[in-house]
Amino acid sequence: MKRYYHNICMIILSAIIFCTLFLSGCEANDPGANNEPSGKSAENIEIIISSEDDKGIDAVSETEQEHSDIDFTVVNSPEHAKNIILFIGDGMGFEQISLGRILKGNDPLSMDAMKNTGYVSTHYDNDNKLLVTDSAASATAIACGVKTKKYAVGVDKDGNAVRSIMSYAKDAGKSTGLITTTRVTDATTAAFAAHNTSRSNEEQTAVDLLHAAPDILMGGGKKNFLADRRKDGADLIAQSQTQGYSLLYNREEVLNTNATMLLGLFASDKMPYTVDNDTQAPSIKDMTIKALDILSQNPEGFFVMIEGGRIDHACHANDAVTTAYEVMAFDEAVGAALEFAQKNTDTLVIVTADHETGGLTIGIEKSYSIGFETLLKVQTGSIFENIVPNADSASGQLDYSQFVRKQFGIRDLSRSETDALKTAFSSNDRATIGNALAALITQRSNIKWASQDHSGKNVPVMAFGPYAEYFTGYMDNTDIFKIMMEAMGIAGQG
Ligand SMILES: [Zn+2]
Repeated sequence: MKRYYHNICMIILSAIIFCTLFLSGCEANDPGANNEPSGKSAENIEIIISSEDDKGIDAVSETEQEHSDIDFTVVNSPEHAKNIILFIGDGMGFEQISLGRILKGNDPLSMDAMKNTGYVSTHYDNDNKLLVTDSAASATAIACGVKTKKYAVGVDKDGNAVRSIMSYAKDAGKSTGLITTTRVTDATTAAFAAHNTSRSNEEQTAVDLLHAAPDILMGGGKKNFLADRRKDGADLIAQSQTQGYSLLYNREEVLNTNATMLLGLFASDKMPYTVDNDTQAPSIKDMTIKALDILSQNPEGFFVMIEGGRIDHACHANDAVTTAYEVMAFDEAVGAALEFAQKNTDTLVIVTADHETGGLTIGIEKSYSIGFETLLKVQTGSIFENIVPNADSASGQLDYSQFVRKQFGIRDLSRSETDALKTAFSSNDRATIGNALAALITQRSNIKWASQDHSGKNVPVMAFGPYAEYFTGYMDNTDIFKIMMEAMGIAGQG
């Protein structure tokens, strides 16, 4: 009931805001700012972001100075979001969410309870509207509110450093956290803390992450912190301890820690896929619950970004079952956050994606011999990180019919399919073998992939809590940053 009244109040407030802006002719419209198509909320919120000068990556402080001049034209809501929990499902389009739902027995997911929803454009080049982005450019749009070049993190298209929502939240006295299931130094987390024209400079991103110093930093990518793995020989593990971080290396340590500054590094590279059931690694839900426990101790509130980083990898691999498990695990973390937000009503929860991966389509033709539901029952590991590594050692004497029956429930392998598998296995190349298996399943199931790369599809956004009303209809990914800034009440403080 309280929620109902809150919603009514927000609708009235939104109407007042809109009328005020309309009458004032939206005078704060800055010709240098983004002109991309944007949702209702973005029309109400305008920020000045980047400068034209080529100042390079060292220009953080000057750019930060410019950001203090931010001019939001929206009248601040009396009820700001003290806390923001931002979920990014890497590569998670609408169909990927459907796969998670099927895995759950066609029951609604936790995120399905979020009734404020919209769809988000993800193009990375504002001038040419180049549709197919990568995670770096898209995460920068969400984290910092600017469109940038592909592969760039935390910089605008000219290479100037731009501040992220996490940086603003920290300055506002809030606690902060970055969590992912891939490397913490990978593009999505990097966009919130690093400033680099190349996402692949991950050793520098590790330095930048410790410099940005979120209270919680958890995921994979340990190798980029180790003295004997880094080109510069810097011992970032030791440095993190000097900074006050407690180090965590497995699930047990996550569950038991009472420390308030956490650096969790659970894999040298990416964390294991959910379907591969590695009990050493914490789940994304484990990490989320621990982070919320710690971050909520700050009376000023917190900002945390939680990435389902491996949904994207499963889609690149065209591995539908692994994708479904990644989405489900991601959704369980969303469920934990929604539970928190129901008890802590000053918390805004946002779920979105940086782009869609694979051009996934769920469709049925009568010639398909197995369905996705059958695959879900039979396939018990990821194709590339479990099935192939376990099979190729025995590839010389592999009985292909038996193999595909056991792994995927395919009972009528044709001559040409057998030949294709034989050729792939004889290459002794795991990628070739994995691709052949993925192609076989795609032929046989009611799942289709347009590619092994990103697509230009719009992605979903869902929200719950204060300012959730602004997440509606067609939006741009930069709008998410703008609404978060407004929701936290940082707008207008400059
Ligand atoms: Zn990707």
